[in-house]
Parts: sequence; structure tokens; C-alpha cells
Amino acid sequence: MTTPSPRWRRQILFADVDAMFASAAAVKDPSLAGKPVAVGGPPPRGIIAAASYAVRAFGVRSAMPTAKALQLCPDLILLPPDPPLYRQLHEAMRTVTDRLFPLTEWSSIDEFYADTTTLQSLHPDPLALGQLVKEELYAATGLRSTVAIASGKTIAKIAAECHKPDGLIVVKPGTEPSFLAPCPLHTLPRIGPKTAARLQALGLTTIGDLLDARWDSMLQRLFGNSLTVIRDRARGIDNEPVVTDRDPKSVSRETTFDRDTRDPNLLERTLREFLGLLTHHLRQDARAAASCLIKLKDSRFIVTTKRRRFPHPLNDEAVMWPTVRQALHELISPETAYRLVGLALTDFAPASPSLFDQRRAQALEAMDRLIVRYGPSVVGLGGIFPRHMTRRSTVT
Ligand SMILES: [Mg+2]
Repeated sequence: MTTPSPRWRRQILFADVDAMFASAAAVKDPSLAGKPVAVGGPPPRGIIAAASYAVRAFGVRSAMPTAKALQLCPDLILLPPDPPLYRQLHEAMRTVTDRLFPLTEWSSIDEFYADTTTLQSLHPDPLALGQLVKEELYAATGLRSTVAIASGKTIAKIAAECHKPDGLIVVKPGTEPSFLAPCPLHTLPRIGPKTAARLQALGLTTIGDLLDARWDSMLQRLFGNSLTVIRDRARGIDNEPVVTDRDPKSVSRETTFDRDTRDPNLLERTLREFLGLLTHHLRQDARAAASCLIKLKDSRFIVTTKRRRFPHPLNDEAVMWPTVRQALHELISPETAYRLVGLALTDFAPASPSLFDQRRAQALEAMDRLIVRYGPSVVGLGGIFPRHMTRRSTVT
């Protein structure tokens, strides 16, 4: 039997797709897998936007002129950028992160931070959580990624940087300074390539060197007031919050049907699945919602909404469902065909543990574990989405 690992005061997960644009090309055309692919503009003026690991072996890097890349790797397969493909893969990744995490900050199209502090009872082993994220992203997109889990954003990003490609690394609390010390200087944000080169000329090569008292006066001159922050980061001290790029005041889901529907049962089943998923997010985030908002769009694109308050803030699907269902039936007009249905939960309050009795709380926690692993459709509502229904869902 293994002893449970102690709870982290703060836990941040960072994930970054490996060579996203080049890897995306191989997802679209599998015959390109493992080949020296790069994405960029043609010579003489073009530059490389992304290089696969196969061409990186030749010394090709992003931002390099394509002409030089072709000198280094004459067999290079140059492809133009494919933004619609990247957007499609990004949305597929968001579907995964929306399901796994209450809050995600996408810092670019292919990398995100998630604050996983409140998920530790669901995922006591950070290594297993990282593995799950890698597998889910791969299953949804065919893209490999590197995942790092640490106590702050900066260190998680550096750790991922040092373990690419297809990496998985957990930096345990308390080990941050020793982990960072041997990392190259340029991996620390705020130390650009120019500054790194200047420091290198003076004899500093690693993040640990920034903490060496021998360099105090020189670093003071170079960085001035920023030195305190830089040295905090070099020690792994970083309390920057994960900030969602979406409105945290509500969570919502909506979907557009392939064919407009007059079937109230289909609308009900769809809302019930949304409610299950949204309450799952609220519980993970220790929040409860005081109101719900139902949205319908009919075949003439007319949108109608109905808002209802719960007797008090809730995050238990079974208790909330009668209110949501009743609001839906007040909103539906007979003989109207609907193309879209959506549900938002708003007016958040912190969830109090006394909201449930002990057994109900345990049942919900078990269900949350299943939702994280298999998705919401398996829990109680197995496979409610018929084939003719497309899902364009968002959590805001
Ligand atoms: Mg990347």
C-alpha cells in the first residue's frame, strides 16, 4: 500500500503541444509523420513558423529564414500554414480541458495553464493526472504534448520546456530551487536571448547563477528593481494566478442540432447532460449557482431565454433539474422547431459542505471521478447524443 502524497498548497498544470503546426500537418496527412516537415513561407523572403523534431535535428528552428533552413536540410518538406486546421484542433483540445478542469488559461493556441489545486481529491497523484491529460489530448487530436505540474506557472512552463517532446514532469513542492538551478538562463521568462547572451559573456550560464552572491552588484546594475522578481522566479516563487480567458461569472453549454427539432424529449435530454457537466465543474471549483438561464434558438433564428432562481445556491444536478426542466417547458412553444439549445448557470456562491449529507457527497465525488475519466455521457445518461446531432459546445 502506498502512503497518500501530501496535499499541495497550490498546484498548476501546464501543457504544450509539441511542434503544433508541424504535427498538425501530420495529423491531416499521416504520410508526413516522422518526415522533415516545416511550416513557413517560401524563400527568398519566407521564414520558418514551426519546425518538426525531424528537421530540428538538422539545426532548423522557428523564426529562421526558409532559405537557410533549406541549406541545413535540403530534403525539408515546406508546407504553408493552415489556420482552419489549427483552430479545429484547438477547439478539440478545449473540449478536453473544459471537461477536465474548472478553469483553463490558454496562453496561445497550443498551450494552457490549469489550476489543479482543488482537483487533488479527485486526482491525488499528479503524475497520473498529467498522463491522463496527455492521453486525452492525443485521443482528441492525434497531437503529442508535454505536460508539467508544479507549484507555479513559471516553473511549470520551464519544466515543460526542458522535457519536450512528449514529456511528463512533476516538480514537487520544496524542490523548486534545486530543480531550477541547472536550467539554462534563457528558459527563465524575462531573460530574453539578448540578456542571456550578455550574462553568458560575463560567465553566468544557469538560473542558479542568478542567485550567486558573487554577481550581486553586477546583476543589480543590469536589472535594477526587477532583480527581486527575477530572483524570486529563480527560486521558484511565483504566485501568478491562472486567469481564465472566458467569463468566470457563469458556466454555460450550448449545442446546435444538425436538423431542427420539435422533440421536447431531445431538448430535455440535451439540457440534462449540460446540467450534469456544468454542476460537475461547479463542484470541482467548490462553487454553487443561484440561477439558471435556458436559451433556445428557433428555425427562424429567433432567440428566447428564461431565467429561474433556485431556492438557494446549488451544485447538485438532481436537485436542480426540476427547476431547469420546468423553465424549459415554459419556454417551448408548440409546433416550433428549434436549432439550438443552451444552458447557463450563474450567480455563484461558494459551495458549503453542508449542502449535502455525507453519502450524497461521496456519490457525487465518485461521479465526478467518472466524468473526468470517461466524459459526462457515460454517467447515468449513457450516449444520449444521436448521430445526427453536432455538438458545438462552449463553456464560458
Ligand atoms: Mg507548443
